[in-house]
Amino acid sequence: MALIVQKYGGTSVGSIDRIRNVAARMIRTRDEGHQVVAVVSAMSGVTDGLIKMAREISSNPSERELDVLLATGEQQSIALVTMALQELGVDAVSITGRQAGIHTTGSHTRGRILNMNPALMHQFLNAGKTLVVAGFQGVTPDGMIHTLGRGGSDLTAIAVAASLKADVCQILTDVDGVYTCDPRIVKNARKLPEISYDEMLEMASSGSKVMQSRSVEFAKKFGVVFEVRSSLNDNPGTLVLEEHPHMENAVIRGVSIERSQARVTITGIPDTPGMSGRILGALAEAEINLDMIISNIAQHDGFARHSFTMPSCDLGKAQAALKPVLASLAPDAKIETEGGIAKLSAVGTGMRSHSGVAAIMFQALGAAGINIGMISTSEIKIAVTVDETQIEDAARAVHDAFGLDKMSA
Ligand code: ASP
Ligand code: MG
Repeated sequence: MALIVQKYGGTSVGSIDRIRNVAARMIRTRDEGHQVVAVVSAMSGVTDGLIKMAREISSNPSERELDVLLATGEQQSIALVTMALQELGVDAVSITGRQAGIHTTGSHTRGRILNMNPALMHQFLNAGKTLVVAGFQGVTPDGMIHTLGRGGSDLTAIAVAASLKADVCQILTDVDGVYTCDPRIVKNARKLPEISYDEMLEMASSGSKVMQSRSVEFAKKFGVVFEVRSSLNDNPGTLVLEEHPHMENAVIRGVSIERSQARVTITGIPDTPGMSGRILGALAEAEINLDMIISNIAQHDGFARHSFTMPSCDLGKAQAALKPVLASLAPDAKIETEGGIAKLSAVGTGMRSHSGVAAIMFQALGAAGINIGMISTSEIKIAVTVDETQIEDAARAVHDAFGLDKMSA
């Protein structure tokens, strides 16, 4: 008998019929002789709807109250899934984040897991019950309701699997697994049998939003092997795990894209110690997540310049945060902004041991007539920005150049 954690996302519990399907699927797993713990999200659209209502009341609602509000979405679904199981004769019980012993820290709406106390879950499991745990929520040291950031049910699932030492952790979702690229854009994209945590993280942080990034980091840290697969069929999905010697030997594992990006360039910054720290510090304080950061010194005037990318929606906030620091530190500085760009990233741990990967990618883009804006690299990623209108062509060109439609030896 294995202990299996199954996470069902918002689409999988998106209607009463789908909730019944989730119950049926859990029962199938139980009938195969396993213990099942489901972690469920709010029904699709519910969290967004709650946020919208909050914003209708206040443009800046209290984050503590947002947590209280948003956590209700998952509470609806655990009760409904549990009722569906009970209706089919299963001895099931719903469990909130607090009852699951998910202790959190950090600011409201962005909780991080501090530790887990699975005592109550064990008690129910020992009594033969099937558990339905609320995703996305935990409890602060002083007993407040806390949510784990958008997509946080993934994190709950990984944490529950880790704390119960589950044999299997399945992330059941509306995609079949992790693909070499979005199959809606690249028709011959291929489902990957396996991907390493590091690659999954790079793909997630560069736009392939299969899972919440923090949940993958958590899985890596605690060695939780999990599988991303469809909740609508029984096809095998993609296993996410630590890199191992028998993994498909590819230089590039996949290509991800991220639209709606903007670039900010600041010129005329005095070339003195501490400048970058103070400028970027102001953006960090405004909680703006910068992505690519490129800086250099212009030969002709000796001033430094910084360029960075961020989601277009943060542009206004960034300008507001930059104005006061620049006014006091760098009166000659100018800010230029550019929207309508997109980012393409090629990701693969094989890059660590291969050279010439960037050249293949840039040549493929050149041959497709696509102009590259900014370039940045990490040990396992090469990312470029291109005009947003060309991003799909860019993805196809790079996917082809690396032959990602075919399994490599
Ligand atoms: N319901 C939350 C959200 O929409 C958490 C989740 O679905 O994972 O972000
Ligand atoms: Mg989700």
